[in-house]
Amino acid sequence: MGQETVYESYKPEDTSRIGEKLGREAVRGQVCTLTGDLGAGKTVLTQGIARGLGIREPVNSPTFTIAQVYEGGRMPLYHLDVYRIGDISEMDEIGYEDYFYGEGLCMIEWADLIKELIPEKHTQITIEKDSEKGFDYRKITVKE
Ligand code: ADP
Ligand code: MG
Repeated sequence: MGQETVYESYKPEDTSRIGEKLGREAVRGQVCTLTGDLGAGKTVLTQGIARGLGIREPVNSPTFTIAQVYEGGRMPLYHLDVYRIGDISEMDEIGYEDYFYGEGLCMIEWADLIKELIPEKHTQITIEKDSEKGFDYRKITVKE
């Protein structure tokens, strides 16, 4: 495991801005796992990433569809949320390999639920709260 970068966010806009930076730096075929509790800010971060990629379309939580594809940016964004996955075979049904080994950036919310499918080379993004630092504080760790 390579470099680790820690960002501190004090409000949703900070998280968006951090996402924008990550979106500008993203490379084709990159896979990012997003770990953090419900309401941590995984979707907010992904919305920022979309902007950083130059995607104008609004990005919503794909909870009921598992995968959502956004074209029109510097590269496609594959936004996956596997929170409601019942069985790992559902990943085959959505054709996950097109997203994990595709031409775009793949962001996976709740990636821990499908650990066995995640390519070895991936970026780990963890979002954590710290109640001592306030309700809106988030620590965002990016491990390459
Ligand atoms: P997740 O996708 O991790 O379940 P969301 O991104 O959908 O979480 O929601 C995060 C919620 O937390 C939003 O309602 C957002 O306004 C709020 N929030 C408060 N502070 C922050 C912060 N610093 N970064 C991101 N979201 C924040
Ligand atoms: Mg979400």
